[in-house]
Amino acid sequence: KTQTDDFVIDDDLILKIFKPREDFSHKGTYGKSIIIGGSYGKIGAAVLATKSALKSGSGLTFVLASNCGYEILKTTCPEAMFIKGGEKFITQIDEMENAVYGIGPGLGTDEETEKTLLKFLENHSSPLILDADALNIISENENGLKLIPKKSIITPHPKEFERLFGKTENSIERLNLAKTKAKDLGIYIVLKDHHTQIINPEGTIFYNITGNSGLAKGGSGDVLTGIITSLLAQKYSSEEAAILGVWIHGQAADFAAEKYSKESMQPTDLIDEIGNVFLDLN
Ligand code: AMP
Ligand code: MG
Repeated sequence: KTQTDDFVIDDDLILKIFKPREDFSHKGTYGKSIIIGGSYGKIGAAVLATKSALKSGSGLTFVLASNCGYEILKTTCPEAMFIKGGEKFITQIDEMENAVYGIGPGLGTDEETEKTLLKFLENHSSPLILDADALNIISENENGLKLIPKKSIITPHPKEFERLFGKTENSIERLNLAKTKAKDLGIYIVLKDHHTQIINPEGTIFYNITGNSGLAKGGSGDVLTGIITSLLAQKYSSEEAAILGVWIHGQAADFAAEKYSKESMQPTDLIDEIGNVFLDLN
């Protein structure tokens, strides 16, 4: 515990949140994840997020991407079901009952995609995860922020945070702004950085201390989106999914760094370590 109401995410908190899998269960028990992203030239981001969702335990995993990603997604993530969201760009997002949406990795910001996403958000009320280009699209639209369903989780890196909420002078100011916005919007903000902070709608801050600078590479954030989406699908609360997801992501990064070095570790290595993180938790 740091100040009054703020927490450092420690092993005790993680073990309290983590729920081991039940013997008497089936794929329906563990929910449906759907990753939305992967436009022309950005299919890799969708691959990383989808693989991470698969590796984090959701019962069924779907990926809605542009059709030009079909072959690559089928080959790299055969366990995930492909949904065609358009030809080169995402132009259609259908509502799937009881599915948890992780939207953004490689989504692109094509005009049609922008319209499609905003329209989807207007009609969607359950919590979801928004990252990357989904956040960039929201930043570009005056009413974008208001369309985010309550209890959703957004995962901006510092630049995306600035686009969403404006410039701040330093990290303390940024954190205070995040508190205000999380309260106003009723959402969870995952402020990604070295020592990522999760801010809940009451303004409480959770500091994560797993992870390392080997994560400072393109693709790391896409892995986080997949993990959190998968956990939310498994009926962890938004707060639990954000905290556990960020912690697992960092822990996987620490394992990957030990094996391959911070320099050489890749987001793909991180995905391969997710299993070892769960082994330790069990
Ligand atoms: P993105 O910029 O969306 O790919 O996300 C980057 C991810 O890597 C986030 O989860 C960050 O918290 C993490 N990350 C980036 N740089 C560092 C760093 N120097 N130390 C620890 N984590 C980092
Ligand atoms: Mg990112």
